[in-house]
Amino acid sequence: MQFQELNLSKPLLDAVAQLGFTEMTEIQEKTIPLLLEGRDVIGKSNTGTGKTAAFSLPILEQMEPSDCDHVCALILCPTRELAMQACEEIRKFARFKKYIRPAAVYGGASMDRQIHQLKNGANLVVGTPGRVLDHLRRRTLKLDQLKTIVLDEADEMLNMGFREDIETVLEQIPQKRQTVLFSATMPPAILAITKQYQNDPVMIQIKSAHRTVDAIAQYYVSVPMGRKTDALHLLLLAKQPNSAMIFCNTKKMVDELTDALCMRGFPAVGLHGDMKQLQRTQVMNGFKSGKNTILIATDVAARGIDVKGVDAVFNYDLPQDHEYYIHRIGRTGRAGKTGTAYNILSGRKQEIEMREISRYTKAEITEIAVPTSRELRAAAVEREQERLLALSATAVSEEAMMLTNILLENAESAKGILAAMVQQHLTEATKNLPTFDVPKPIRKGRHAGAKTVRVHINAGRRDRMAPNFILGALVEATGMAGNTFGKIDIHDQFTTVEVPETELDFVVDVMQHEKINGKKVVVRRYEEYGGKRDGGRSKGRQQSVQRRSSRHGYNQNARSGSYNRKRQKG
Ligand code: ADP
Ligand code: MG
Repeated sequence: MQFQELNLSKPLLDAVAQLGFTEMTEIQEKTIPLLLEGRDVIGKSNTGTGKTAAFSLPILEQMEPSDCDHVCALILCPTRELAMQACEEIRKFARFKKYIRPAAVYGGASMDRQIHQLKNGANLVVGTPGRVLDHLRRRTLKLDQLKTIVLDEADEMLNMGFREDIETVLEQIPQKRQTVLFSATMPPAILAITKQYQNDPVMIQIKSAHRTVDAIAQYYVSVPMGRKTDALHLLLLAKQPNSAMIFCNTKKMVDELTDALCMRGFPAVGLHGDMKQLQRTQVMNGFKSGKNTILIATDVAARGIDVKGVDAVFNYDLPQDHEYYIHRIGRTGRAGKTGTAYNILSGRKQEIEMREISRYTKAEITEIAVPTSRELRAAAVEREQERLLALSATAVSEEAMMLTNILLENAESAKGILAAMVQQHLTEATKNLPTFDVPKPIRKGRHAGAKTVRVHINAGRRDRMAPNFILGALVEATGMAGNTFGKIDIHDQFTTVEVPETELDFVVDVMQHEKINGKKVVVRRYEEYGGKRDGGRSKGRQQSVQRRSSRHGYNQNARSGSYNRKRQKG
């Protein structure tokens, strides 16, 4: 349904049209008519679905010039950024209704300016609960003629501990009013509030996040402990997003990661709740204007923030709450654009969480390899070549030309000079590049607890096979983590290795063309005939090697061919 089909007055329809809105979103289509009727509404819909317009258009429609010398509507938002953002959007909708004067009030900013605004005819107030209460106590805000109150992002306000403040506000406003509540999730605490403070509310729930999430390509990389920043660095270089948001779970991590990325030369800024208002505004402005293309934030700081053109979201930490995953990646791919989300995992626990998130969101999250520094160097060389070739068209001064001609007199030295200059540029272009050379794409999951089978390799002690040669070759060829493989039994003429049953065909397949310690080998499924196990037959002569889990150092170790392991004589 189109906005123009709504029973809205011309000034609002014109403003909406000017903003380029034509079709309503689902939540708008379902709630606006009810709100225009004056009903109390509970609206549940994901971030980015246009809830601001849903609750503000009906308010603006109902505001008449005659009753506008007092505050008619109050909108409570969890954070200063959201209050500012909602207020800005409302200003745009009210563009052609000049008597509507929105004001935003939030903590951390000058009280005087807000008091001035409130005194000078503000009739629609958007604010954070604490500051609104502050103004009520000072009597700089009067709500005795309030017609509508909106609790926007109600779940987040409760998460942030605003429950008491909200209730205090609700107690102080006229009983006869419209109470509207919007939220992305519907925990029981919200329902308790609606029960107590709403009058026969209609609940509108827009099903699932799929619309938002589906437009977003989702990937994950799995890296050893302590290598997340390197992985992020390489992903940022390889994907070159125009504008990216990176999520961390703690303020401390936001600070640390911001420092780390800045040190590495990225234009990154951090945003979290401990920052002063001025600082936060500066950060948001820097990010919105494109001066800083990377914003690192906690969930609370970033909740609901609507920045156009974020083309990649990175989860440096996975969110603790699955709904938050949807909110986070919803920062990209907004308003029908496509976006990409990358999750950086370390350790089995996070891989399991990732799988649960994938199941919960019904989204496909594909594993990719961390781009290697080698690939990135190659890309940098290519870019440098293009850049230098493009330079040849640059106009230069006569002096420069003269010097060039002198330098060109000796071809050999001219070549040396050019090489040195190219080297300078390349060094610059590839400086700080972390080394992160995973040999092949990492294959799925670890397989702890999975059913294993054994493969037979036709090389044994007689061929001078040692466990590290065999494991090294398997890891190199399959790209699977070293600890995917189980027990390695080396016999005189052959070796058996435990592999996850699900990976058997793959291992056999890729090993067909491989050499181990210089010897071409045949790898096949090990058949245990007659119920007799090889371990029993060759007891005493075989060398059993049980791998200790050594996820942490595997990549580095794989290079040098040495592995942590515990030897045990069979
Ligand atoms: P929410 O509060 O649900 O997270 P917002 O109200 O912040 O979502 O809206 C997200 C973005 O979508 C904003 O940039 C808004 O201007 C835009 N938007 C809202 N409704 C529409 C619409 N019907 N058509 C196009 N864009 C819209
Ligand atoms: Mg919103």
